[in-house]
Order: sequence, then structure tokens, then C-alpha cells
Amino acid sequence: MTALTGREPARALRRSIAADLAQFARLPTLTFVRSASHPAGAAYARQVSRGARRVGVPVSQELLDETTTTAEAVGLVERLAADEQVQGIIVALPLPSAVDTASVVSAVPPSKDVDRITRAAIGAVLAGASELAPGVATAVLRLLDFYEIPLAGRLVAVVGRSRGVGKPVASMLLARDATVVLCHSKTHDLAGIASQADVVVSCVGHPGLITREHVKPGAVVVDVGATYTADGLRGDVEAEGVAQVASAYTPVPGGVGPLTVYCLLENLLVLAREATSG
Ligand code: NAP
Repeated sequence: MTALTGREPARALRRSIAADLAQFARLPTLTFVRSASHPAGAAYARQVSRGARRVGVPVSQELLDETTTTAEAVGLVERLAADEQVQGIIVALPLPSAVDTASVVSAVPPSKDVDRITRAAIGAVLAGASELAPGVATAVLRLLDFYEIPLAGRLVAVVGRSRGVGKPVASMLLARDATVVLCHSKTHDLAGIASQADVVVSCVGHPGLITREHVKPGAVVVDVGATYTADGLRGDVEAEGVAQVASAYTPVPGGVGPLTVYCLLENLLVLAREATSG
């Protein structure tokens, strides 16, 4: 059983980003908009900031507290959208409960949408008409390519159909000629379906959901899940059991996550270059 770690491909991408950054007359900057109190947004910002520091991209954060209104949050994103010093904006979810998430996300202009989560950006990914995709979806494909996991014609079960993760992952796999089954919380007999697949990609956020019963002997398992528990960061995969049947799987931490950060930063560079050339 092989552990498909993200560290090596992440290192290679980090080097290429650092080299690319040296070509910029002015460093592109990234701003997070997030809840001041929710740990998921804080962890996401921390993880991306760490990667950004390593390549030299300045990151700032705008914090929304529980008293922030939707109008204030949208106004903040609109100011960032108009600010020429800011090349990328990431709205980290969840936002405070009083804030309408869709309104805030829609205020991010496509030209600064590093996460590719606005409707226009996702639409383009699903239509197969975009060079850029959400960092996590790009990371899944890069990881599979790095380890030379064949996709064309193979049956891939993607578990999770969110707009920002499961759907773009499924769409990109389809574009690579995989035969994709997209599963979700209403899927009947998840184990029966997933255990027919050559590759299982789990994008749910329920630790332990994917057990050996969900995995065909010799299959490859990609664990996108990232849940902070009292025992630390956990993926969706029950690693001990799955390791006994899978031929390869991505560990959590250390699998998709490290690569996702640099795929996001790569998006930032593309957008910053487009902004200066346009
Ligand atoms: P989300 O919006 O909550 O979506 C979860 C998806 O899982 C939904 O489509 C849901 O189905 C499905 N689901 C829930 N319970 C299920 C079950 N028992 N069986 C099958 N499907 C089930 O979450 P997300 O934003 O997509 O994120 C998913 C995970 O990826 C999270 O752990 C997140 O932290 C992680 N993530 C990791 C990275 C990384 O770099 N590693 C980056 C981004 C996100 P319904 O649609 O039917 O509700």
C-alpha cells in the first residue's frame, strides 16, 4: 500500500511559484475575509498564509464578528474588489450567522476570485471552459497525475457534491475521460457503489465515513476531507481498514492539503498577471 503524500508535488509547485514570482515587478497580495471566531476559517487562513510566506506572497485578513451585517460584509468585499493593491480575495466559510454568504461571495469579482467559488467561476469549470479551478480540485488532479494514476476509462466514485469541492473535482475527472459517479448524502448504498470504483475521491468532512467496505481491493483512495477534531486533523477515510485493501491512499494530514495551498497561490499569480496585462 502506497501513501500518496502531497509534500513532494507541493514542493515542486512551490519552487515554480517562487521562480514565477520573481518575474513580478510588484508582489501580488491576497486578502482573506473570514469570521473572527470560527476555527475552520482561521485554520484555512493560517494554512494558506504559511504557504504564502514561504514563497513571499503578502497575506492580510479582514475579520467579521457576530455583529457584522450582510451589507457591511458586502461593502468590505466591494472595497477590496476596487483596491488595486489587492490581487486576490478569499472568502473563507463559514461566515458569521447573520451574514448572507451568497451575497458576500457574489461580491468577489471573477478577476480576484482565487478560490474560484463565485457562480461564474464554477460555471466555467463545469462547462470545461476555464484554465483555473478551485485549488482543491486542481490539487486532486495534480496528485493523481504526479503518482501516474490512470484516469481515462476508469470508474471514479466522487463522494460529496458541493459547489466548491465535489462538483469541480467530478467535472475535472470527467474532462480527463474518467467514468464518474457523483455520490452524496442521499445516495443509496454508498459502499456498494464506491466499492466498484477504481478510484474513490471522498470530499465530505465526516471522519471515518469511508471504510474498507467502500473500497475495491487494489483501488486508489483520495481523501479530501479535512475535519478538525479533538484528536487533530482527520480525513474521511478510516485509514487502518482502508490500508488493508487499497493499493494507494492519500494521508490526512499530508495528502491533498499541502498541494491545495500552492494550487491556490498559482491561481493568484495567473489572476495577477491577467490584471496587469489587461
Ligand atoms: P460541504 O459543503 O459540507 O459538502 C459535503 C458534501 O458531502 C455534500 O455534497 C454532502 O451531500 C456530502 N455528504 C454528507 N454526508 C454524506 C454521507 N454520509 N454520505 C455521502 N455524502 C455525504 O463540504 P465541502 O466544502 O465540500 O468540503 C468537504 C470536505 O473537504 C471538508 O472536510 C473540507 O474541510 C474539505 N476540504 C479540504 C480541502 C483540502 O485542501 N484538503 C479543501 C477544501 C475542502 P449533500 O449535498 O447531499 O448534502
